[in-house]
Amino acid sequence: MGLLKVSGLGKSFGGVRAVDGIDFELEAGELLALIGPNGAGKSTTFNMLNGQLKADAGSIRLGGVELVGLQPREIWRLGVGRTFQIAQTFASLSVLENVQMALLSADGRAFSFARRAADYRRDEALGLLDSVGMAAQAGRPCSELAYGDVKRVELAVAMANQPRLLLMDEPTAGMAPGERHELMALTKRLVVERRMAVLFTEHSMDVVFAYADRIIVLARGRLIAGGSPEMIREHPQVQQVYFGSGKTFGVRKPAEETL
Ligand code: ADP
Ligand code: MG
Repeated sequence: MGLLKVSGLGKSFGGVRAVDGIDFELEAGELLALIGPNGAGKSTTFNMLNGQLKADAGSIRLGGVELVGLQPREIWRLGVGRTFQIAQTFASLSVLENVQMALLSADGRAFSFARRAADYRRDEALGLLDSVGMAAQAGRPCSELAYGDVKRVELAVAMANQPRLLLMDEPTAGMAPGERHELMALTKRLVVERRMAVLFTEHSMDVVFAYADRIIVLARGRLIAGGSPEMIREHPQVQQVYFGSGKTFGVRKPAEETL
C-alpha cells in the first residue's frame, strides 16, 4: 500500500473549483512531481496536504491515518514536512543554530529555550548539515550564504523532524538553472537514502524530467495525466495544456543546459 493515498480531494473558493476531485498515491522512497499551468491548483493541493487549508471533499490518508480535519501541527507530527523559507528573524542565526532550532521544535521544546541551545543536539544538527553538504559552513550566519546554500539549509531544517513525506512547493523558485539541478539532485539522494517520499512542484521541465520518478499533471483542478517522465513527455493532452497543439517539451539533458 502506498504511504500517501489521496482520493476525491476537492477545494473551492467561492465559485472556483481550485481542486476538483483528484486521486493519487505516493510511495516511500518516491519523488513525485505535480505539474500544471499557473492557477491549476498545485498550491491549493499542497496546502490541503499540510493542513493549512481544509479540504471540502475527499480524503488524504498517510499510512492509513486520515489527515483531513487535523491541524497543521498534528499533520507535521505525523510526519508530513514542508520546506519553509528561513524567516528573516533567523537569518542572523548561524547555519548550525537554525538546524538546532528545528530540532528543538521537532522535540516540542519552546523557542525561548534556544537561548541556551548552543549545545542542543549539536552532533545531530551537524549530521543533518553534512547530509546536505553544508557542515563546513555551520558557523556562518545564514544571512551571509549564497541563495543556493540557504536552500540546502532549509532542506536540513525540514529534515529535522524526520518527515515520511516532504512537500516542496516551488523549491527552486528564483534559482539559476545550475543551482536548481544541484538542489533536486540532493533531494533525490535524500529520497533514496532515507526512503522518504517527496511531492514537489517545479516550473522548469528540464528539472522535472531529470529527477522525478513519476509525474502527475493538474489542469484547472483536475488530474489529466500521471505516469513516468517518458509517458508524460509524449502525452498529447499534456503537451496541449502546456504549449497548445503541435509543440513539444523540447527536453534537454542537464549537462547540455547553459549554467
Ligand atoms: P497553482 O499553485 O497551480 O498556481 P493555486 O492552487 O494557487 O494554483 O490556485 C488555484 C485556483 O484557486 C486559482 O484560480 C486561484 O486564483 C484560486 N485560489 C487559490 N487560493 C485562493 C484563495 N485563498 N482564495 C480564492 N481563490 C484562491
Ligand atoms: Mg502555486
